Amino acid sequence: MDSKKKEKSSYEWSPWHGCTKKSEGCLNCYVYRGDARREREASICKRTLQYDLPIKKDKKRNYKIPSGKVIFTCFQSDFLIKDADPWRSECFKMIKERSDCFFVFFTKRPERLKEFLPEDWNDGYDNLEIGVTVENQKRADERLPIFMNIPMKHRMIVIEPMLEEIDIEKYLRDDIEEVTAGGESGPNARPLNFDWIKSLRDQCERKNVHFSFHQTGKKFIKDGVHYNIQRKFQHSQAKKANIDYLRSKRIKFGKAKVDTNQLSFDFDIEE
Ligand code: SF4
Repeated sequence: MDSKKKEKSSYEWSPWHGCTKKSEGCLNCYVYRGDARREREASICKRTLQYDLPIKKDKKRNYKIPSGKVIFTCFQSDFLIKDADPWRSECFKMIKERSDCFFVFFTKRPERLKEFLPEDWNDGYDNLEIGVTVENQKRADERLPIFMNIPMKHRMIVIEPMLEEIDIEKYLRDDIEEVTAGGESGPNARPLNFDWIKSLRDQCERKNVHFSFHQTGKKFIKDGVHYNIQRKFQHSQAKKANIDYLRSKRIKFGKAKVDTNQLSFDFDIEE
């Protein structure tokens, strides 16, 4: 192996591929977009060849994924999709076996989680973070009360693609590790208004919950001006806003408070 080759800090594990659309946020799903390009049917959920990737070993009987890695799980589907019911318990076993790695998955189906938690779940696995995804007020009010009622060691809220202003303040609690928000990508992306992001960030600050503005999406509105942001700049432009709220106990650098009314930053305009 090339000794200069940078070791990966994270891996993606897709035990199955394909998903059924659940709600408004799924309209322009990237799994569907990718499969359409490859002339594949995205609504059919199939197990993949990397189904048992976390426990695969090399010739020396070492795990192929080294210790200490973050494993992003099921990003080509939803971990809780019905079609995957026969496979899920085995995945939980693999997650448990690899307690030396940290797993993360997101779901739009928290109402199915309780039924499928393993018997040894208790108050959650130390090495698994679950994120619930919401896109508008209706889905926040549907999913967050359910999600917040399920015991887990690591939880986060993902608001992406954010389709309108959302009030989640009443659901915010100390045990939420992060709220992250962003816009939508792709040719038919729906717009994200920076005012919605600022409102969310202020809710998190009031409840002292870590907040990050993940990416702008393609169509971004700030101060009434509409921007088209190229894919490669969507993350960096969001970071340029310098709007993340770092919960006091997580702060390492910089200041915790940002006056969102004083923000001034420019965007790269695509067209
Ligand atoms: S739940 Fe996620 S993966 Fe499934 S269709 Fe919706 S956006 Fe796509």
